[in-house]
Amino acid sequence: MPATPSDPPGLSRLRPALPSPLQPAADDRFERHGVRLLLKRDDLIHQDLPGNKWRKLAPNLLAAAGRPVLTFGGAYSNHLRATAAAGRLLGFRTVGVVRGDELAHRPLNPSLAQCAADGMRLHFVDRRTYRAKADPQVLAGLLSAHGECEVIPEGGSNAMAAQGCTELGRELLGRVDVAAVACGTGGTLAGLAAGLAPGQRALGIPVLRGGFLGDAVRDLQREAFGGPAGTWSLDERFHFGGYARTTPGLHAFADDFEDRHGLPIERLYVAKLLYALTELAGQGAFPAGTTVAAVITGRPDPTEPPGAPQKPPGGH
Ligand SMILES: *Cc1c(COP(=O)(O)O)cnc(C)c1O
Repeated sequence: MPATPSDPPGLSRLRPALPSPLQPAADDRFERHGVRLLLKRDDLIHQDLPGNKWRKLAPNLLAAAGRPVLTFGGAYSNHLRATAAAGRLLGFRTVGVVRGDELAHRPLNPSLAQCAADGMRLHFVDRRTYRAKADPQVLAGLLSAHGECEVIPEGGSNAMAAQGCTELGRELLGRVDVAAVACGTGGTLAGLAAGLAPGQRALGIPVLRGGFLGDAVRDLQREAFGGPAGTWSLDERFHFGGYARTTPGLHAFADDFEDRHGLPIERLYVAKLLYALTELAGQGAFPAGTTVAAVITGRPDPTEPPGAPQKPPGGH
């Protein structure tokens, strides 16, 4: 299919599976409390740009209109991998600014090696520079090294990304009472909540520690929608120690969920979300008669063999 004027980079050629399937999941741990669990299978949207990475990148890539894209991420970033894959599939240049010294990252881990294989130019910066990445001077330095690029922030979360994620909410209109999602930067939650109708609510489960996410979501909603949008809340109790931290108990839970429901469970975000929902249902946090959708925001990292040792903290 040729690119159309409204789709200059030819995203439609990638044939995303949208709207993503909404599947019932018969689970006695929920049913016992009168709660219906549904799985919103955003992991099935696209092989190389799964889940919220598609929803957040698509509007940014449309705006970039085929120009090179520069973005940011940690050493195991799903967002970097998705951006690199989009560059390969659609034929635009990508630059990935990676947190951490280059020496510490050579040889490349499988996730960064995949980015490089997809043609992404990797630019390593020390942690201090990485923290200052929004500073105009730091950004100017990066752009002078790589030429004019569209800049997409860490995790792909900006106003356009949040707007892209409203579609996730709209796909759930009239079908659920609560839509729950794991949060890194909060971009997906910001858009999801805005897309829901009054009477529906979004629930975010942060996978990072620190309690900063509420402000991040409010800031994103202000940028994207001009102010607060929809009803949402956070439950900060299920980060399991922080980003990329897991426990044997979390893995056992995820293995069991895979056996019960027959889908692969990504461990850094999705497993924490499903654990939280199961725990909340068990505590009676959802009134009987509630329908809860768990947004399956991604798949296990395909560059990571199952049962591989725990990743060091590595960013979105
Ligand atoms: C990136 C990612 C998230 C976090 O999304 P945010 O919009 O940054 O909150 C959640 N789940 C998965 C699987 C991801 O890859």
